[in-house]
Amino acid sequence: MHKHPTALGLATTLLPVQPVTLTRSHAARRAARFFVEKFPGRTMYAVKANPSPELLAVLYDSGITQFDVASIAEVRLVANTLPDATMCFMHPVKAEEAIREAYDTHGVRTFSLDTMEELEKIVRATKGATDLTLCVRIRVSSEHSKLSLASKFGADPAELRELLIATRQVADALGICFHVGSQAMSPAAYSGAMERVRAAIVEAGVTVDVVDVGGGFPSSYPGMEPPPLEVFFDVIHKCFEDLPVSYSSELWCEPGRALSAEYSSLIVRVEKRRGDELYINDGAYGALFDAAHIAWRFPTELLREPDSNARDMAFSFYGPTCDDADYMKGPFMLPADMKAGDYIEIGMLGAYGCAMRTGFNGFGSVDTIEVDDEPMVSMYVEDHRRVMSNVVKL
Ligand SMILES: *Cc1c(COP(=O)(O)O)cnc(C)c1O
Repeated sequence: MHKHPTALGLATTLLPVQPVTLTRSHAARRAARFFVEKFPGRTMYAVKANPSPELLAVLYDSGITQFDVASIAEVRLVANTLPDATMCFMHPVKAEEAIREAYDTHGVRTFSLDTMEELEKIVRATKGATDLTLCVRIRVSSEHSKLSLASKFGADPAELRELLIATRQVADALGICFHVGSQAMSPAAYSGAMERVRAAIVEAGVTVDVVDVGGGFPSSYPGMEPPPLEVFFDVIHKCFEDLPVSYSSELWCEPGRALSAEYSSLIVRVEKRRGDELYINDGAYGALFDAAHIAWRFPTELLREPDSNARDMAFSFYGPTCDDADYMKGPFMLPADMKAGDYIEIGMLGAYGCAMRTGFNGFGSVDTIEVDDEPMVSMYVEDHRRVMSNVVKL
């Protein structure tokens, strides 16, 4: 892979014609070390947030050796990239062929489920294996999260007791898992969900070996500055200690966004300006899916030398395809003298950004270059966290 010291230097010397994905291995390493050292349990990485093999290797080398996979393609990818990694197949609705291949060929022993049918499927596909860790996914509220995951998955509360008892009978280890939704802005998301876990354990009267609090750990975006992650970890730890099974069970988490967001950003070029609208060379069908479809805001910075001294104003973006929907409302704050030919760095695209790219309309290709400078924002740098806690107090 190509390397360059800084985003600014890269844009001003290489003058890239196509968008460039920037990777920052040091930022992913720092996020991984933070979880490994501070999360009061075991951390696995949710591969769907960004399946880049380079990122998987960085996380693995930093101590994240367990991976949450959701499709057979992700199973094969992790098996090929990191042969010694442990995989947990945490999609509650799987093809029977996928379960069989994962179990027989790739050594996967941990699966999630949320119905009796899925339990029967797992038992059939593994020919009644006795070495399974089976995690029952419960339904929890997404009210504290920016992206809901509350409607699609999670056992029906009316069947939960029966499902836990049946799963206990076939599992070597029984887990309970949930997902509070992505970008949880308050630790209350986890304490609320842990109350559900407690109620489920008490009602079913089963022993539980794993409590998996899922993903949802937040990153920092404009207008979405969450409390420090330590606050989330403290709340989760306390709730876990209060469960009747804490003495004999393990605590797991499955962050995707928090481990990958700071790993990548994007350099785009302005091809045209129309008032407060900038036509850039990447968009809804590229790395900016969330910016277009759910009006997610990302930090932006002009890469120009000498720098502009115009004050910032709010811009929206049009992407390069011919589709009207290739529009990103923002607001994206950039100097008022922005013009065609300028380069912009768009930050925090390591999670659900670079992974979403398509080739629609001929605009899919990008270069990937590793840089050494800091990401625009970080949950893992002291100064930034101090700024964040000031924001929270106000
Ligand atoms: C998407 C997903 C994750 C990761 O969620 P983040 O919000 O990115 O942390 C973890 N677990 C499961 C089961 C998921 O579907």
